[in-house]
Amino acid sequence: MQKNPTSIEVALRKGSWVKIICGASNEDLASISDLSALYAAAGVQCIDIAADLAVANAARKGLDWVESRFGNRPWLMMSISDGEDIHFRKAYFNPKLCPPDCLRPCEKVCPAGAIIQQVIEDKCYGCGRCLPICPLGIIQTKDKFLNLDELKELLYKANPDAIEIHTTPGRIKDFEALVKIISQTKLPFKRIAVSCGLEGHAITPALLAKEFWQRYECLRSYNQKAIWQLDGRPMSGDLGKGATKSVICLWQNLREIMPPGPIQLAGGTNAQTINDIDTRIGLAGIAFGGKARKLIQPFLIEAQNENKKLIDRSKGWVQALKEAKALVDPWLKVNPLPNKKIQKVS
Ligand code: SF4
Ligand code: SF4
Repeated sequence: MQKNPTSIEVALRKGSWVKIICGASNEDLASISDLSALYAAAGVQCIDIAADLAVANAARKGLDWVESRFGNRPWLMMSISDGEDIHFRKAYFNPKLCPPDCLRPCEKVCPAGAIIQQVIEDKCYGCGRCLPICPLGIIQTKDKFLNLDELKELLYKANPDAIEIHTTPGRIKDFEALVKIISQTKLPFKRIAVSCGLEGHAITPALLAKEFWQRYECLRSYNQKAIWQLDGRPMSGDLGKGATKSVICLWQNLREIMPPGPIQLAGGTNAQTINDIDTRIGLAGIAFGGKARKLIQPFLIEAQNENKKLIDRSKGWVQALKEAKALVDPWLKVNPLPNKKIQKVS
């Protein structure tokens, strides 16, 4: 039970909303449980996970642990897609094709530690960094999809607080089909986040805004409330300060022409993002993905090497929480700007 459920909606209006993205294809259950616990303890309002029952259960374990100690409980958001999307892929290769003298650059480049001789599927979140680095070009990807019936069943069993739909320009019909199924469950979702960006699509910001408006009309017709997630450069926030440029540019181009509802940034977001924003007026908050995970990866590995969970290692937990707070606090402590237009919730 959320101790103060309205505070989450208040954060959306104040501009102090923070979501942590565990990864739409991340199924590393031990890490997800710890990641959820750590960032919930740091005070974020939402944990975004893959559409998988075991993943939802693992995240809930972490959230239960935090709620019993600190009283706060973020929303659990489940990520799905209305079509092909890089967030929902897994890398794979046949290790028998690897020459014995290969220096294994794929293992070194993987931010999730998901390649040890072969791809450990649960840990891979589809970032794609291993694909171009293999000298033989043998690493490929496969997509992971749920059909609409499987999705409906999953939603009943997992009962997330909110949903995120990854969508792409031109897929309004697929989006509508998904929202229809979601709404037919009659589950009381608090928000439906809609994630879309320009990367890989030859359209203008104005046309992208038009796509968001189409989805707004669809959600409104089913009485669902949106969060608009502007997706800059997907899965790149851990690459460095410059990764944030794409999402800032998207925000600057779209902020005046978006449909009603809270707007949140994602894709390339990191500690630098807040410094690069020229105005936060109208902005509800931010989502951190790769950067948030990379920060605590060393603590997770230490814990796993000891066959423990991070929440059971008091020293590692304290240090990891300090790192997590340093990333999210500047957003959680955001105060409404003078003359800030509070987003009308619709
Ligand atoms: S580099 Fe990215 S795509 Fe490749 S195995 Fe690691 S997480 Fe998966
Ligand atoms: S870089 Fe390519 S060839 Fe080398 S170990 Fe990785 S997958 Fe195998």
